[in-house]
Amino acid sequence: MDFLFQRSYRGELKLAVFDWAGTTVDYGCLAPAGAFVELFKRHGVEATVAQARGPMGMHKRDHIRTMIQLPDLAEQWKAKHGAAHTEDDVEALFQEFIPLQLDALPAFAKIIPGVVETAKDLRARGMKLGGTTGYNREMMEICMAAAKKAGYEPDASVPGSEVPAGRPAPWMAVKVAMELGIYPPQAIVKIGDTVTDVQEGLNGGMWTVAVVKTGYEIGLSEAEVNALPADELARRMAAAGEKLAQAGAHYVIDGVADLPPVIDAINTRLKAGDRP
Ligand SMILES: [Mg+2]
Repeated sequence: MDFLFQRSYRGELKLAVFDWAGTTVDYGCLAPAGAFVELFKRHGVEATVAQARGPMGMHKRDHIRTMIQLPDLAEQWKAKHGAAHTEDDVEALFQEFIPLQLDALPAFAKIIPGVVETAKDLRARGMKLGGTTGYNREMMEICMAAAKKAGYEPDASVPGSEVPAGRPAPWMAVKVAMELGIYPPQAIVKIGDTVTDVQEGLNGGMWTVAVVKTGYEIGLSEAEVNALPADELARRMAAAGEKLAQAGAHYVIDGVADLPPVIDAINTRLKAGDRP
């Protein structure tokens, strides 16, 4: 055969799937790290904030396993408990983490500036809004309640605890799309603040947008960001943006407030036959 006929989606974006912490609530994604440091401290293991922040965006059980496997923490655990950690220890730590995280969450679940306005803009275009998170449902619902009060309420939201595998697997974003009846994946954009957020979207065949200033990679509260010298902030943002771009993000922006022009740009590319 001399010709191959290929189908090409030329419609507009129909769905935006937003991450929660560091993207739509919890400026700087500060809630989880504090809780992980406290969890390990309770078991005689001194973890740094940097060690606690390492694998963020994963399911929290995987996050704990990754932390406890760090040579420094594995050694501290062995010294304190007289034996290397086991998978049972990981599970016990995860069970203990849930209430600890729940206590810490409400204080951090504040809406990020610009999210409500962007949500309104996207809805005016006829788009649906979704959410995904490494949190379990109970934690996610604390974020959802705070966001709803502030005026942001996605149409569907799926936590890591309700899919066979969390990020980097695409199942949460795919489940959101399924619940809302939206396809093809080229009509979906995933927005998040971590490398695993980007991977979730790419693995689902979706467009991906990374937010830098409000997210985990910078890891500072809004007040701390505003207090940073301009050149230092620019240096950190460039490094974080580079990391997320190299993970494959199609666009890197400061925060969700800057999303609407990116939606326009993607729609223009779709119309021209481009795909993620
Ligand atoms: Mg996040």
